Amino acid sequence: MQTHILGYPRIGSKRELKKACEQYWSGKISSEELAEAGRAIRFQNWKTQAAIGIDLIPVNDFSFYDQVLDMSLMVGAIPERYLPLLENPNISPLDHYFAMARGYQKDGLDITAMEMTKWFDTNYHYLVPEFTEKQGFNYHSTKVVDEFKEAKRKGINAKPVLIGPVTYLLLGKEKTSGFDKIDLIHNLLPVYLEILKDLETNGADWVQFDEPFLGLDLNNKEKEAFQFVYQSIRKAFPKLKILLATYFEGLNDNIKLALSLPICALHLDLVRNPAQLEEILLQIPEKLSLSLGLVDGRNIWKNDFNKSLEVISKVINSIGKERIMLAPSCSLLHVPYDLEAETQEGILLPEIKQWIAFAKQKLKEVVLLQELSLPNPHKDTLLELETNKAAIASRENSSLIHNETVKLRVASISPSDDKRDSRYASRKTLQQKLLKLPALPTTTIGSFPQTGEVRKWRSQFRKGFIDAKTYENLLKEATEKVIRKQEEIGLDVLVHGEYERNDMVEYFGEQLAGFTFSQFGWVQSYGSRCVKPPIIYGDVFRPAPMTVFWSSYAQSLTKKRVKGMLTGPVTILQWSFVRNDQPRSQTCRQIALAIRDEVTDLESAGIKIIQIDEPAIREGLPLRKSEWEAYLDWAVEAFRLTSSGVSDATQIHTHMCYSEFNDIMPSIAAMDADVITIECSRSQMELLDAFADFKYPNEIGPGIYDIHAPRVPTKSEMVQLIKKAQDVIPTAQLWVNPDCGLKTRQWDETEKALKLMVEAAKELRAME
Ligand code: GLN
Ligand code: ZN
Repeated sequence: MQTHILGYPRIGSKRELKKACEQYWSGKISSEELAEAGRAIRFQNWKTQAAIGIDLIPVNDFSFYDQVLDMSLMVGAIPERYLPLLENPNISPLDHYFAMARGYQKDGLDITAMEMTKWFDTNYHYLVPEFTEKQGFNYHSTKVVDEFKEAKRKGINAKPVLIGPVTYLLLGKEKTSGFDKIDLIHNLLPVYLEILKDLETNGADWVQFDEPFLGLDLNNKEKEAFQFVYQSIRKAFPKLKILLATYFEGLNDNIKLALSLPICALHLDLVRNPAQLEEILLQIPEKLSLSLGLVDGRNIWKNDFNKSLEVISKVINSIGKERIMLAPSCSLLHVPYDLEAETQEGILLPEIKQWIAFAKQKLKEVVLLQELSLPNPHKDTLLELETNKAAIASRENSSLIHNETVKLRVASISPSDDKRDSRYASRKTLQQKLLKLPALPTTTIGSFPQTGEVRKWRSQFRKGFIDAKTYENLLKEATEKVIRKQEEIGLDVLVHGEYERNDMVEYFGEQLAGFTFSQFGWVQSYGSRCVKPPIIYGDVFRPAPMTVFWSSYAQSLTKKRVKGMLTGPVTILQWSFVRNDQPRSQTCRQIALAIRDEVTDLESAGIKIIQIDEPAIREGLPLRKSEWEAYLDWAVEAFRLTSSGVSDATQIHTHMCYSEFNDIMPSIAAMDADVITIECSRSQMELLDAFADFKYPNEIGPGIYDIHAPRVPTKSEMVQLIKKAQDVIPTAQLWVNPDCGLKTRQWDETEKALKLMVEAAKELRAME
């Protein structure tokens, strides 16, 4: 019974790679220094795994930016616009690589970066491969072999990890029409065979192919591609041991296909889908090994050894221990490095710490499970089992987790709780009477530029250099300034600017019961960007109002309406580590009730327009279409629970960042927000078509300027975009606003752009 992992975090336990990359990009360190930082992290990761006793250590799980971009370079899928860089002898391969990741604006060249999108249902973003009809491939970068040799020099016979060819193609995007990317498999496979040849020649024994698409809905052509690829590999390399890794979903209807592939081992995500094991054991061919993904690679809770050992012993009885491998469910990329780094008091509660395992602790869990499944474990190992049992029991019974009042409240939600009093049409009349807004009302999405100054106050306050009162006064001044600015610009509905917030989820997590935080719990989001998700460990409720103070303060400064600003339950859930002892839907309902309390308190405080941001609704969609409906049901219900406690005259807004709405339009409509603002300008209002086709009845604010770049749009551009919107949506339903929050922009450009935006709205009003 061998232990292995699918991949390890690579940003460095103190985010060394982030820092090194950013220093390299700003010219502060050399490429050699950056390379050294990479080597040091790889070596440290290998050493950690070897010391803990992992048998098969992966290589090529490291990346300076993204593993999918690495794969594109390995197979030479380099979009044409980067070829001038490639041919330029003064541009190093490393700079060429970063140009693909981040764009290139130098020496009169202006080349856009590759597009980025979410890696399955995680918060990690990868760089989308770009394919054309005549796409060629060639063995371009030898990264995987280089890292294999590097490990070998350190005495490690590692397991190279590659994104499987089918998954690689399915992750990409067709940049020209008239072909199906999966047909490129015939051009692509020969390059994979060259890579494998190189690996075999250098002594590789095992090779891991990540094929998470094997756990998703596949059409016939895609299924055939799996057969074609793995049959061909087997034929070319009869001795190489191929491990095929699936994760984030169960194999379900693809079980037969997976079991028919000529591979040596199949990895299963038994955290996400434990049920698949039964059927697999019934059908498994005689020589295939199973890698049991029992330790959760997506969440931070300790493994329940008793439960895992039961599964392992069942598999031993069925196929024998020689054919079993033990592993985390997926790459550990999605969890933080090391729980032992959490030493600062008052951040991660000690009682909760004993329930948690980060990446390094998960390595240990895999090894302990191995030792405990073999005959006569050492007495220290048995002691570890006892400690584990005690931790699991303490979590099950902890008074920190369970709150009867919360449970009772969720259990007694009544069918009317998630419905507004009247239908939208009647609400609209009441709201118009109260709010008296002009046609095409103007507003913003919430945040205004968070300058270095604001961030400095916050960090000084956190470090205790300035006291709460001083901090509050500074924020008050900033808020007042932002109110005056908005009045001057002439916006119709104002916001308070969100200066008191560091992050739209953390800010609420810090004030809700049931949440805790970590000091170093960083997880890579993309490139050098990391996030530190809050940890939801217990029943959630709101001990006290969270935003009423700032919204009321802002409202007291002006005669115009100030919009209250909240984060919705699905987004809070989606961007946190969540508890695994109850369904996500249940946790979401609790958060919904907590935010509902805030909504009604805002209303009582005189805030009659309240925005509940839900940018993560779409990304929370399950990977299998068959599960969409159930998810959308509870996600929409949670939003409605949050928003339905107010009277008809109070106007509820929601904001969603860039999302494809087409296939979820009925659910978006069912959210029944009075106004929805969406990101639209980069797609030239295309996203609005879904709303038009659906005859979406409520109001919509399609973003008319792109806040992701410093560029100030012209007035006529914005007029054109509003007109485009008017072509498909009646004017009476339209709002005028930017794409998203202005937090990352500078004041200068923001002021100019918003003034032009207001003028654009006025120009069109005059034409009505
Ligand atoms: N209200 C938030 C802001 O303006 C919304 C951010 C988001 O949608 N991601 O910053
Ligand atoms: Zn947004």
